[in-house]
Amino acid sequence: MSEPKYDLLVGGGYSIKEYYMESGNPRQMRGASHLLDKSAADVKALLMDENKFGVKEAQIIVSGATLYAQIPKGSGIEAVKQAEEKFHDNCRTANAAFVAVAYDEDDYIASKRHALAEYEIRRAEKFISWKLQNLPDKMLENERDNTSDNKFGYRRMTDEDYKKNKTPKRCPRCRLRDPIYHVTSKNGEQQYLCTPCAKREKMSGERKYYLRKKCGDSNKFNYDYDINTMSDLAEDGRVALLYADVNNLGGQEPQLSFCADKDYHARVETAVKDAVHTAIEQAMERKGLKKNGQLISKFEIIALSGDDVCLLLPGDVALLAAKTIVDEFDQNVAKNKLDLTISVAACVANDTTAIAYMHSIVEKALKAAKTCAREEGQSVVNLSFFEQPSDLFPMTTTELAKFVDLMGESSSTSSSSLHNISTACHALLEEEFELFFNYHLSREINSNSQSILKCIHKEYAGKKPWPDVVAWSSQKLGKGGETR
Ligand SMILES: [Zn+2]
Repeated sequence: MSEPKYDLLVGGGYSIKEYYMESGNPRQMRGASHLLDKSAADVKALLMDENKFGVKEAQIIVSGATLYAQIPKGSGIEAVKQAEEKFHDNCRTANAAFVAVAYDEDDYIASKRHALAEYEIRRAEKFISWKLQNLPDKMLENERDNTSDNKFGYRRMTDEDYKKNKTPKRCPRCRLRDPIYHVTSKNGEQQYLCTPCAKREKMSGERKYYLRKKCGDSNKFNYDYDINTMSDLAEDGRVALLYADVNNLGGQEPQLSFCADKDYHARVETAVKDAVHTAIEQAMERKGLKKNGQLISKFEIIALSGDDVCLLLPGDVALLAAKTIVDEFDQNVAKNKLDLTISVAACVANDTTAIAYMHSIVEKALKAAKTCAREEGQSVVNLSFFEQPSDLFPMTTTELAKFVDLMGESSSTSSSSLHNISTACHALLEEEFELFFNYHLSREINSNSQSILKCIHKEYAGKKPWPDVVAWSSQKLGKGGETR
């Protein structure tokens, strides 16, 4: 065995979605995402600093929120300390942990396994310990100096401010911490915010189109359209929060070397990103809103790194986007000879619904999708209408294709007809419903509608598909726009 030259550093942020959700507004969520990305970049720069650790780019893997690095032997304790500090400086209330273990280069698999086990323990130890941290912040203090005579900026609250801010003792954004900054945003809005919320506000203002601009062929989109609130996304008053996650990525056949592992993570990330880009492009094309010949970018990418995907979309394109992600991902992994599947979950709700509430629904939906994916060995889509249980979702890729075909056919059926059947399905006993259904069929003049209704009824015998059918037939998911 050769003399070991390296330690293996593993770490990063965790329970990241909670960190985004702390601010229930697309703009501030974008700021949270920006801060997380900045932290990963800062840790990477720290490791690559010649005067500190001198790690080469090839010795670092960034996969979503997790970072792996081969660092010089013996520098573990210092690297862990500095990396955690860097992370904590940027996102004070996000959870972050790092560990370093002795690295046996002849046995990468065992070393990685050891590091991940240690990381698991460290995460459990540190969990939520930062949540209430609300100390003054260097980044914001500097901002104050630069903008002292400007109309907008961030400054520490004075005694006068505290007097003025009598009633809301808590920061109005998170309602968790006390406000300590007076913030004047560019549109003149004045607020008293806690440090983490003020930082998110600052980052979101700095990068108006943060991740949206990275989406695929940028010439296709017009980015003038700014998204400040959920209602900026909705047209019929509905919005979707969509999560996607590669199934069982950690449980895959381990790669034999650091180098092979880096390559593997890069391929997975490309497969996910390409799928998401295509999905967004198709969803926006379906909406067809254009300005100067370019598509209006009515979407928000909150996170898109590694296998962590969080999107905000208009509600009526959620199914199309989810379906495109699974279809494209399945194709991409087949092309790349990766044996992987993906789960996509979305919650469609009114634009006035609190994002934190939608988040809890999507989390559950994603979990159900993952269980289904594990059982079926296929990619899975799960869609959830706010507070309305679904009888058909989660669906595997195969089932979904069939469902979408049927929905395309059913566009010839009037929506009032579908509504009647759906209501009856809820209100009547099974035998009564059968009678009602047959009676309804006999009165349906359009023979194409008749055969479609019969077909749906037969296809989903024993289930109550009608509420799902009503929900999705209103999404205009016709066959025409589906095929490319
Ligand atoms: Zn706050």
